[in-house]
Amino acid sequence: MIVLKFGGTSVGKPERMKKIADLVLNTPGKKIVVLSALSGTTNSLVAIGDHLIAGQHAKAEEEIARLEKHYQAFIKELYTGDSFQAIGQELVSRFFIFIRLLAAGQFDGKSYRELLAQGELISTELFYQHLQERKISARLLPALYFMSIDENDEPELEKIAERLKPLLSSLNNIDIIITQGYICRNNRNEIDNLKRGGSDYTASLVGAAIRAEEIQIWTDIDGMHNNDPRIVKKTIPISELTFDEASELAYFGAKILHPSTIVPAQKYNVPVRLKNTMDEKAPGTIITSKGKEGSFKAIAAKDGITAIKIRSSRMLMAYGFLRRVFEIFENHKTSIDMITTSEVAVSLTIDNNTQLASIETELKKFGTIEVDNDQTIICIVGQKITEQKGVLKQVFDSLSEIPVRMVSCGGSTNNVSLLIDKKHKEKALNALNEGLFGLR
Ligand code: ASP
Ligand code: MG
Repeated sequence: MIVLKFGGTSVGKPERMKKIADLVLNTPGKKIVVLSALSGTTNSLVAIGDHLIAGQHAKAEEEIARLEKHYQAFIKELYTGDSFQAIGQELVSRFFIFIRLLAAGQFDGKSYRELLAQGELISTELFYQHLQERKISARLLPALYFMSIDENDEPELEKIAERLKPLLSSLNNIDIIITQGYICRNNRNEIDNLKRGGSDYTASLVGAAIRAEEIQIWTDIDGMHNNDPRIVKKTIPISELTFDEASELAYFGAKILHPSTIVPAQKYNVPVRLKNTMDEKAPGTIITSKGKEGSFKAIAAKDGITAIKIRSSRMLMAYGFLRRVFEIFENHKTSIDMITTSEVAVSLTIDNNTQLASIETELKKFGTIEVDNDQTIICIVGQKITEQKGVLKQVFDSLSEIPVRMVSCGGSTNNVSLLIDKKHKEKALNALNEGLFGLR
């Protein structure tokens, strides 16, 4: 069995959705198809939810009406026959009655999450009915029957696998099983989600749960590139990556994959293939446990980083200092990305500022604190690169014109991370592209 996941842009236009149907049909064997919401829908649902939380009902209704119109137009093009036009109409009006029902009630966090789930619920139904119209045999398997997260919002992979087993064996004779990305139930059995971009994660969790032959993530770019194509003129697609390399790249800013996607696939050694719906023939990127070692594969950059420096004379020859520092971050549920230490100071970075003020207050007990916002982590990835000679020289020769605030090397053998001020990012990515890949 393979898992095929299609993102919002892949299903965002009626003709694209039809193309996806062809693609699924032409893929041999049994498959589970995971769909995102149509592109723009989740953003729109977020906007509606925000208006409702703020008590701005008129604005929410305006956005609901706009979204409804979009879907009305969508079904007109998606379905050809009268009877399926009617089914489409019925489907869209049912969803929008429900959305307005949510909006009219006591609107709290729970209703908000229920609202966000509507995007994937509607896209999968639209797609399923499209297959019906084409007489392609398929079944809709609601993700809410099997996807769940625990009290820490972590997916429950083993439980998901247990629930899927009987469900899939009852669908033994069906080749195309459609389900929703992103949505799940939480430990209170309410509708919840895997955070923005979470459909990739769904695909990987399902793929791992059923020990799929392969997980295919279909997007609108031909695989992972060696650098950020939005910032660097010349980039090249990478044909092979290891799980470790792909994880680092996804976490450190490669927008093509949700950062947690690789984890479940890697756990059960299920290959992940990135493919392009706009160019099916393009080889894409295959991510597996094995790969070429010792060469630079790619660079990713993550913005919105805050660097915190704690300077303390108490650190000098003391033990237990770092533990106390880490404890403060732990108590504030804030994770640390990079860390460097000297004998009297420690610098670290976070990407979530929500608790910064109270973290700062507590850190001040240790000594002087310096905080710099708007930093960028540049992550250079390649299996076992740090075991090679001259790697850092090559990196720093490339960056000779750019001030580097922090360096982290040796945490794992497959990445070198650098912290720079965001204003140097474009220059740094281009310089590394030339220095490490010879691309300009
Ligand atoms: N529809 C959700 C989002 O836009 C999940 C996804 O597309 O992966 O974030
Ligand atoms: Mg995505």
